[in-house]
Amino acid sequence: MPVERKHCQCQDTQFHFLTRAFESLQLEAAQRELLLSPFRETTVSIPLRPNRNDDSELQTFMGYRVQHNHARGPFKGGLRFHPSVNLGEIRALAQLMTWKTALVDIPFGGAKGGIAVDTTQLDRHALEILTKRFTQKMVPVFGVHEDIPAPDIGTNPQVMAWILEEYSKTHGYTPAIVTGKPIELGGSAGRLEATGYGVACITREVASEMSLPIKQARVVIQGFGNVGSHAALSLSRMGARIIALSDYRGGVYAESGIDVSAAVRHVAETEWLEGLPETEAISNAELLALPCDFLIPAALEATIDCDNADTIKAKAVIEAANIPVTHLADTALRDRGIAVVPDLLANAGGVLTSYYEWVQNLQEFPWDYETILQRLETRLLSVYEQVRDLASSRQVDLRTAAYELAIGRVARAIALRGF
Ligand code: GLU
Repeated sequence: MPVERKHCQCQDTQFHFLTRAFESLQLEAAQRELLLSPFRETTVSIPLRPNRNDDSELQTFMGYRVQHNHARGPFKGGLRFHPSVNLGEIRALAQLMTWKTALVDIPFGGAKGGIAVDTTQLDRHALEILTKRFTQKMVPVFGVHEDIPAPDIGTNPQVMAWILEEYSKTHGYTPAIVTGKPIELGGSAGRLEATGYGVACITREVASEMSLPIKQARVVIQGFGNVGSHAALSLSRMGARIIALSDYRGGVYAESGIDVSAAVRHVAETEWLEGLPETEAISNAELLALPCDFLIPAALEATIDCDNADTIKAKAVIEAANIPVTHLADTALRDRGIAVVPDLLANAGGVLTSYYEWVQNLQEFPWDYETILQRLETRLLSVYEQVRDLASSRQVDLRTAAYELAIGRVARAIALRGF
C-alpha cells in the first residue's frame, strides 16, 4: 500500500475514534476544537553528509516535534526515525499520547516527534550526528518540565543517550530530559521490555475473561521490534503458544509453537526472522489471517484496514502498535464480534514506565526491577478494569470507553486551569 494513503488513514482514523467519544460525552464544538488542536508544532531541517568517508552529497533531513496538549503536565512522547515520518503522522501520534498519558493517569501531556530518515542507510557516526543536530534545534522546546522525549520506532536507548549528551552540554547533566535511556545513564530497570510486558499482562487478563487459560492461548504477533519481541518473550514465559511471528520481510509459522528466545538469537545473528529453524515461511497477509486466539499487531499503523479486516480470524486483537487498525476495519471487526483492546491502553506500559524513570531521575534514587514491573502490572490492570467496567456500563466498545475516560480528564484539567 502506498505510504501516503496510510498517513491519511492514520489521521482519519484518529478523528473518527475521537468523534465517537466526543458524541458519547456530548462535548460542545468549541471544546472539541480545543481538544483537537496542537499546542505547538516545530519543524527543523538537518543538513548531513551521510557518509563521512567519502564526499557523499549533502542531504537535508526533516525533523518534527508536535506538542499536542500539556494541560495535565509536561509534553511526553517518543521520537520516531523512519522514512515514512511526516507532519500528519506525527500529529496523529502526538494526540494519541495525550489520551494515553491521561488514561493511565500520569502527570504528562502528549507529544511525538521524529525524523524522516532510513536509518539503515546511515552508519553509527552519521546517526549520532543527525540525532545531536536534531536535538540542538529542538533544545528550545525540550525541558525536564516542558517536553521529555523517549524511544519509538527506529530509535533506542543509544539514541536517547545522544539526546541526553547534547542537551546536557547547555544545561548541565540532565538525565530527566529523556526516558528510555541506558541504565548506566539513569535509565530505568525494566523500561526496555515495559511496553511488550504490558501488552502480555493485558493479553493474559483478556484471556482469563474469555475463560481461556493463558497456557492454552494461541498467539500471532506481527512485528518483531522492541515491542513485538518483548511481548512474544513475556507471553511465552507466561505459557502462551506463539504460533507465528513476522518482521518487515515476512513471517514464520509453527503450529506447535515457536521458541521465541531462539527467534531473538536468530534475528541478532541474521537480522531477519527468515529461515528460523523449525518454522515455515508465510507472508504477512497469511499471518494476519491465521486462526488464533490473539492477534497482536506490533509494527506500523494501519496494518489492519478495510482490505484485510474480513480475513482476520482471531478472537481478539491487542493493539501493541499505535493506530494499527483503521476506523473502518475497527467497525468491521466489532461487527464480527472480535474484541479490540485499543493502543492507548494495550501499549501504555511503555510511557507508564517512562514516568517511573522520570520520577527516579527527579528523586535521584533508582528503584529495583521487581518494584517497577509490579507497579506497571498493577496500574495497567487496574486501568484495564476501569475501561472494561465503563464500556459495559455505557454499552460501548473498549476504545470508546478508554477515550471517554482520557478525554474527560484532559477536558477537566483545561477547565480548571482556565486556558
Ligand atoms: N513511544 C512510546 C509510545 O508510543 C513511548 C513514549 C514515552 O515513553 O514517552 O507510547
